[in-house]
Amino acid sequence: MRIAKEELFNFPLKKIGIFGASGSIGKQALSIIKDHSNELKVEALCVNSSSDFLYEAVKEFHPRYVGINFIKDNHPLIRYCSLNNIQLFIGKDSASKIIEISNLNIALNAIVGSIGLDITLGLIGRCEILALANKESLVVGGGLVQESMNNHSTKLIPVDSEHSAIYQCMLGEKTDNLQKVYLTGSGGPFLTRNLKTFNSITVEEAVNHPNWSMGQKISVDSATMMNKALEWIEAIRIFQIKPDQIEIIIHPESIIHSMVEFVDGSYKAQLGSPDMRVAIQYALLGGERKNSSFPRLSFTEQLSYNFFPVDYNRFPILFLVKQWEKEGGNRIPIMSIANDIVVGQFLKREIRFVDIIPKIEKTVEKFANNSSLTKEELAKLTSQIQHYLGV
Ligand code: NDP
Ligand code: MG
Repeated sequence: MRIAKEELFNFPLKKIGIFGASGSIGKQALSIIKDHSNELKVEALCVNSSSDFLYEAVKEFHPRYVGINFIKDNHPLIRYCSLNNIQLFIGKDSASKIIEISNLNIALNAIVGSIGLDITLGLIGRCEILALANKESLVVGGGLVQESMNNHSTKLIPVDSEHSAIYQCMLGEKTDNLQKVYLTGSGGPFLTRNLKTFNSITVEEAVNHPNWSMGQKISVDSATMMNKALEWIEAIRIFQIKPDQIEIIIHPESIIHSMVEFVDGSYKAQLGSPDMRVAIQYALLGGERKNSSFPRLSFTEQLSYNFFPVDYNRFPILFLVKQWEKEGGNRIPIMSIANDIVVGQFLKREIRFVDIIPKIEKTVEKFANNSSLTKEELAKLTSQIQHYLGV
């Protein structure tokens, strides 16, 4: 008889579900789970269509539940799961079905794009800790997520490095004592590029981030600084702070992941190498600190850290997002939905880099109204925007 490790040591392994396991964040999460296999166990893995990756991960981590939206009928993963008593769900509702039946301690939403909202909403109330990387779900469905969080005990730990930093800075502090948040951003690959050459920016140049290695969509978002616009909204929603309490500052070295200022003129910052594994591990361990081999900083080699104000002419989305948040209604959700689509078009080389933000602006102007959206209305709006943008 095989005795489960948890029974042997009477020490329950935390059951982890990873949604978006084949992406940049998902893969790093798996490497962390491997390093902490005495505490963490992969219970569920979900991807969109990366069947070969999923097959290898299933063989290595032996989850109980596996979900994939698209897979060939004869893929060996299907036979492997059936022979090994692993429940495999196939189809667009595969992740939702797993959320319904699994009993997760910690769930990581590492899906990319506004489509991640369904997973975020599904997971609230179904797991103890929601490790949230999918910032778009907070942007597109902020009110819905907040409402659901208020009705359930699930704890949200942000994975986004800036929000993980703010979260850590606020531990032990009273929210009322928070005066200001400084949301740092590297400025991406085009911080100093001559504006006259923006017309000729290629996909390769846009995804080549100077400090972070990330998925393609967020890399383009970093190049337009839409990523910081999304993060500005993400910070408002997670920490329930007023928009004018958050200042975006350019910090090209990406060492200070964000800072907070308190009413007494004291500041706290969270620092580290630009390595997402630190924030992912922190969230997966429920806010516990454990040894790691991640790169360390040297304060004698790196002698200066720089900060600059935002250049709104270079990054107009940072001006627009503030205007749209002030105007309210459905503008911010439209921004995120449209961004998913036009970034996809840029990555397919159908539009130019300089077309991305103007197309989003036009879409917001076209569909803007002052209503706040239900989940059903959001789905309807998404298909209208897809149609408008030619998808
Ligand atoms: P990637 O593009 O690398 O990976 C995306 C993942 O989502 C893949 O596993 C993909 O599966 C899956 N996926 C895509 N669409 C669907 C769908 N419809 N249903 C189920 N799964 C889907 O993204 P990243 O890892 O870079 O980013 C993930 C999220 O984390 C984003 O919201 C991003 O903004 C955020 N984030 C990322 C950081 C980073 O360093 N990468 C840093 C901070 C935040 P498949 O492979 O099958 O397509
Ligand atoms: Mg970030």
